[in-house]
Amino acid sequence: MLSISHAVTGAAIAYHLGDPLLATPLILSSHYLLDAIPHWDVGTGLGNGSKSIKLAVLHEIPDLLLAIILIFLFFPSSLPVIASSSLTIPNSAPLWGAFIALIPDFLEGPRNFLRWEPKWLKPINRFHHSFHNSIPRMLDGLSPQLLLLTLLWISR
Ligand SMILES: [Zn+2]
Repeated sequence: MLSISHAVTGAAIAYHLGDPLLATPLILSSHYLLDAIPHWDVGTGLGNGSKSIKLAVLHEIPDLLLAIILIFLFFPSSLPVIASSSLTIPNSAPLWGAFIALIPDFLEGPRNFLRWEPKWLKPINRFHHSFHNSIPRMLDGLSPQLLLLTLLWISR
């Protein structure tokens, strides 16, 4: 799925659970389970050569930027706010939750964008790929993600 979908899901799990030890396995599981839903993301078409690396990078930049913006929008307490000259400590859970949620995709980055994959990463990426169910029809592939974000907005 898009970085937006994984990041906001991870942020929500971390926000609600708070404890990194409890949240981390759930967040990583959420990544693989969400990738099993038929979806479109910026990497769709990279594997079969129907999309160029350059275009995927160009799509990934707004995907990551929007993910960060949405995390602050969904969970405003994660944003540091200076009120009456004192800095309130932000809730870091949505940020680390989002980061953990994106780890499986970060680990695929060298293979997808540099065509380089260290041996130790191969089984991890193969495991990730075994869940991946991407479809080329962008609108059909974005609709389950829109539904997911709506549900996360309601439950935040
Ligand atoms: Zn993934």
